[in-house]
Amino acid sequence: RSNAEKFEFQAEVSRLMDIIINSLYSNKDIFLRELISNASDALDKIRFLSLTDKEILGNGDNAKLEIQIKLDKEKKILSIRDRGIGMTKEDLIKNLGTIAKSGTSAFVEKMQTSGDINLIGQFGVGFYSVYLVADYVEVISKHNDDKQYVWESKADGAFAISEDTWNEPLGRGTEIRLHLREEAGEYLEEFKLKELVKKYSEFINFPIYIWASKEVDVEVPADEEEEEPSSESSSSEEVSGDEDAEKSEDEEQKPKKKTVKETTYEWELLNDVKAVWLRNPKEVSDEEYIKFYHSLAKEFSDEKPLAWSHFTAEGDVEFKAILFVPPKAPHNLYESYYNANKSSLKLYVRRVFISDEFDELLPKYLSFLKGLVDSDNLPLNVSREMLQQHSSLKTIKKKLIRKALDMIRRIAEEDPDESSDTEKKDGKALEEDQKKGQYTKFWNEFGKSIKLGIIEDAANRNRLAKLLRFESTKSEGKLTSLDQYISRMKSGQKDIFYITGSSKEQLEKSPFLERLKKKNYEVILFTDPVDEYLMQYLMDYEDKKFQNVSKEGLKLGKDTKNKELKESFKDLTKWWKKALSSENVDDVKISNRLDNTPCVVVTSKYGWSANMERIMQSQTL
Ligand code: ADP
Ligand code: MG
Repeated sequence: RSNAEKFEFQAEVSRLMDIIINSLYSNKDIFLRELISNASDALDKIRFLSLTDKEILGNGDNAKLEIQIKLDKEKKILSIRDRGIGMTKEDLIKNLGTIAKSGTSAFVEKMQTSGDINLIGQFGVGFYSVYLVADYVEVISKHNDDKQYVWESKADGAFAISEDTWNEPLGRGTEIRLHLREEAGEYLEEFKLKELVKKYSEFINFPIYIWASKEVDVEVPADEEEEEPSSESSSSEEVSGDEDAEKSEDEEQKPKKKTVKETTYEWELLNDVKAVWLRNPKEVSDEEYIKFYHSLAKEFSDEKPLAWSHFTAEGDVEFKAILFVPPKAPHNLYESYYNANKSSLKLYVRRVFISDEFDELLPKYLSFLKGLVDSDNLPLNVSREMLQQHSSLKTIKKKLIRKALDMIRRIAEEDPDESSDTEKKDGKALEEDQKKGQYTKFWNEFGKSIKLGIIEDAANRNRLAKLLRFESTKSEGKLTSLDQYISRMKSGQKDIFYITGSSKEQLEKSPFLERLKKKNYEVILFTDPVDEYLMQYLMDYEDKKFQNVSKEGLKLGKDTKNKELKESFKDLTKWWKKALSSENVDDVKISNRLDNTPCVVVTSKYGWSANMERIMQSQTL
């Protein structure tokens, strides 16, 4: 085309496209849900803008917020169009090729090892999945602020953009035309597309239509149909019989009719636009929740969410919400944890999607949760900035945290591996089987988030501490909890003992544990660098103080012998302290923690433990 401008794909995007186009991956179906998901996002965006500016939607068909699928069997084109926000020329250049999304290289890397294309949507590059089925793609788009443009590419490293002077004007929105590959002919079958929409796009909140063919009986005038000279005789045969005479008069006025099969087309609605969260939780099946999770999280694997919670909050602030604990942590959960905005809840106000980048809904440490909130209290027609300051948000957040922590606690409570009581009800066996090991799974994926929560969220520290798991000198390689620790505490033991270090093996050899082990005290073994920070915030639990056994202040029940020893070795400790000088040690004391080792260096109560020193050193190097 004469007016086409040529662009090259950003290198990483180009590599991604090569991988997709050469993929032998068998489930190519996923492209459709990615396109529908993009269409739905674009519709959400225009609907959101229209809240503050009614004009923006326009009138007539333009105001219809819907998605349409059309097939052209002859030309082998499948097209998906929406009346969403559309893309300006600049958007087309940026969004579809020149600027790589943050997830692009992560996804490319993943695909090169043992990646699953199915996860493409999670990495923010779902659009390119069109090249699983098409060898040439056109994106026609009209944004309110620009003219209509066509983006096109054969996935050969380059794309072109032209002002659209030949297609029908879209009014507003985007149409994606897939010129299907020879072997992708199945996507020209209506039933296949209907099946895919049902399977993957059931929870899209906009109507999805397909331009469906229909065989209908149409009545056509018999004489018009048959112009041949024989027509008269054949038509008179049809009406032959006793009524012949009576009808003869009518025949003069109305021409004779005949039914024939004809193919007509009409828009057929494929989804019923129901909001799951508005339904009564009792009437939503587990399968529906699981499918809803997959569509919400754009995570189409066989894995089920670890837990979910669907509830209505009542009182001053009313809202409905569904929260999910994903089966796996996303690839970048703890990357740039402190400066990324990674809220993963969708916010709706009275059924209208507002944002999925609303940090005020959940604290950072719970950003791994997926779900949505639909509020009746928040105003619809204000800017996002105004909304972010709305007083109801604080209440919503508080309630969401409570519900989220309850949900996580329930994973543990329902996990037979977690509970110590051995009496099990027979009927529950199957259900328990499914819940078995779920909390360990949760802990391995998201345990760090719970620890960060303890550090960040003073108000919920105790609730979070209940969720904490760790190994100890008595846990026999398994995870245990603070409650379990307390239940095993020796009589007279006041504090909860712990030690921090780089590995379990190293800690188990520590001289600090000698006496405690011999006297049969349990000691928590913390080996994650974050544990060291964690314990600066977690001072006590259920009225028990935490005592780092490598620090000053260790008390093992009543120890009268210690007092005597202190007296009798007074001269020695005095001499020793002097010999080492105050630059090197604060004090020299008789120890109650050693058994075989003659002496040990202990950290002062408020100083950094040796492990913390090690962590800080590794960070500055
Ligand atoms: P994601 O949807 O995760 O952002 P995609 O690769 O699916 O990633 O899409 C890339 C970008 O292209 C989108 O973020 C959006 O800006 C733009 N885009 C894709 N499809 C449409 C559409 N139908 N309407 C408007 N913009 C779209
Ligand atoms: Mg997308």
